[in-house]
Amino acid sequence: MPANRTQPPAKADEQQRPRERMVETQLAARDIADPRVLDAMRQVPRHLFVDEGLLDRAYWDGPLPIGHGQTISQPYIVALMTQALGLRGTERVLEVGFGCGYQTAVLARLASEVYAVERIAALFEKGRANLRAQGIENVRLKLGDGSLGWEEHAPFDAVLVAAYTRNVPELLRSQLSTCGRLIIPLGDRDSQLLVLYGKNAHGEVTRKVMAACRFVPLVKNGSP
Ligand code: SAH
Repeated sequence: MPANRTQPPAKADEQQRPRERMVETQLAARDIADPRVLDAMRQVPRHLFVDEGLLDRAYWDGPLPIGHGQTISQPYIVALMTQALGLRGTERVLEVGFGCGYQTAVLARLASEVYAVERIAALFEKGRANLRAQGIENVRLKLGDGSLGWEEHAPFDAVLVAAYTRNVPELLRSQLSTCGRLIIPLGDRDSQLLVLYGKNAHGEVTRKVMAACRFVPLVKNGSP
């Protein structure tokens, strides 16, 4: 069965041109080379995940506010994090901090199942509505503290954390499968690095710094 069997075919829309331009100038012209990632970024209608008032900036080269002091990441960062996970279509992915659901929609096109957690109820609802409107079905959503992972559905082949913290939460590490990959922004408010962790076949942990970045904080049990 094809991995993205639950996805409806992409529809042409009035924002297709700006989206194509985004893919060419912001992603392919930089270091996004995985054709599956480029294709997913071409398909997912980012403008339908942001507030209507921001429509003219939906495909610009930067982050946008999504309410409640949170942001949807710059398209390049979404693509970079996704590409780093090396998804081939069979994976179970955990996403922490799904906000408006845009990154979730990209992951859903590239993996078999996505388990996504968001702690702010209003954003949980917004993200859920956006994903439903796209007819995406291979995604399970949960309201709560994603730094605890989602034990019930572990282990995950890939974990993507969309908020920064000082150290990798232990439960996210332990819920990663053998050879699984985890990408997370680490640091403090003013200085963060996007770090990719992997495990090789011997179970040894590998670590690679991907980029400097700027995310909102990962809030654990009600405190930053
Ligand atoms: N990737 C999302 C949003 C990124 S902003 C998008 O594309 O819209 C980071 C998100 O992480 C915010 O929505 C914030 O509420 C959420 N978040 C922060 N700490 C969290 C935690 N412990 N568990 C779950 N979500 C968390």
